[in-house]
Amino acid sequence: MVLARARAVDGPDKPFRFAEIKRRELDEQDVLIEIKFAGICHSDIHTAHGEWGHVHYPLVPGHEIAGLVTAVGPGVTKYKIGDRVGVGCMVDSCGECENCLRGEEQYCLKGNVPTYAGVDKYGEPTQGGYSTHIVVTEDFVVRIPDNIGLDAAAPLLCTGITTYSPLNRWQAGPGKKVAVIGLGGLGHMGVKIAHAMGAEVTVLSQTLSKKEDGLKFGAQHYYATKDPETFKELAGTFDLIINTVSAVINLDAYLGLLKLDGTLVNVGAPGEPLSVNVMSLIGHRRSFAGSMIGGIRETQEMLDFCAEHGIVPNIEVISADQIDEAYERVLASDVRYRFVIDTSTI
Ligand code: NAP
Ligand code: ZN
Repeated sequence: MVLARARAVDGPDKPFRFAEIKRRELDEQDVLIEIKFAGICHSDIHTAHGEWGHVHYPLVPGHEIAGLVTAVGPGVTKYKIGDRVGVGCMVDSCGECENCLRGEEQYCLKGNVPTYAGVDKYGEPTQGGYSTHIVVTEDFVVRIPDNIGLDAAAPLLCTGITTYSPLNRWQAGPGKKVAVIGLGGLGHMGVKIAHAMGAEVTVLSQTLSKKEDGLKFGAQHYYATKDPETFKELAGTFDLIINTVSAVINLDAYLGLLKLDGTLVNVGAPGEPLSVNVMSLIGHRRSFAGSMIGGIRETQEMLDFCAEHGIVPNIEVISADQIDEAYERVLASDVRYRFVIDTSTI
């Protein structure tokens, strides 16, 4: 058993505090990882604030984990001590259901085991990456390519895969017009990946304040959604829209920007429901879809794709004492474009 240093929160309105958490003894297939960096995802904030329903406190969030293997169980074949590895939003699944067998473990029919705020197969609550160590079964560990720094790699484990997966599935590529709503953590990676796939990319941000960045990330066009003219000018334009917004938006207005057979994929996950007027779909045979992270195989594929195309997130590395402040800045859309905790400061 390893005692890990961590930062935990005790309730929706409570600040983060130091905590010590126990990581289990290594089982046959387990890998012990010394976490070097952990990204802060807006999902951490939704969860810590109880917006997605009841959670078990104290809670150690964090599902964008990058570090080094420091020990392995006797049956481990994929990793050895010293390997550079990552862990994303889930740490286990049944491995036997139809969806797991397809490599879509995130949609495990028995429910995947989330990296934090879940319960593992030993009946223990899972605790996430805002900590110095974690024990994970090797099938839920991915390899970080050598040309990606561990600090920049961490956010890819959620922002990268959550945008790569729908862009891949809905075939963003040459000749396709793709829009990304919201230029935050997910959004900025969506722009970079869609651009690398060869699509013509448009950012739909609340204002034009981040336009220069968006164009640097690979967008060809940038529009402010607070300007009603945007919705008139872009009506019927896009093949694919990825909505990364963490709050409720007027879906009908955005569905109107899709062309015939276009799809709007929601990855943003606000705690409140979004409403759709079916006329927005019927009119041009449009689709409204959702997508949740990606499977382990696809996560490795995304990391290799990013390494090959030289794509990394733009990050601001912070110390563990700055987590509360970082949460406030994310909530104020004042993030450029992902906060990453240097876990040596825990
Ligand atoms: P983030 O960094 O806070 O980015 C969200 C962006 O949405 C903001 O930067 C802002 O962009 C825009 N926005 C925020 N409030 C808005 C409002 N009231 N109206 C319009 N736009 C608004 O968050 P993130 O970490 O990228 O996560 C985004 C969402 O995806 C969260 O809900 C998170 O839980 C969810 N998520 C889902 C999955 C999944 O598997 N589906 C995985 C990870 C995260 P602008 O400033 O450019 O307008
Ligand atoms: Zn996330």
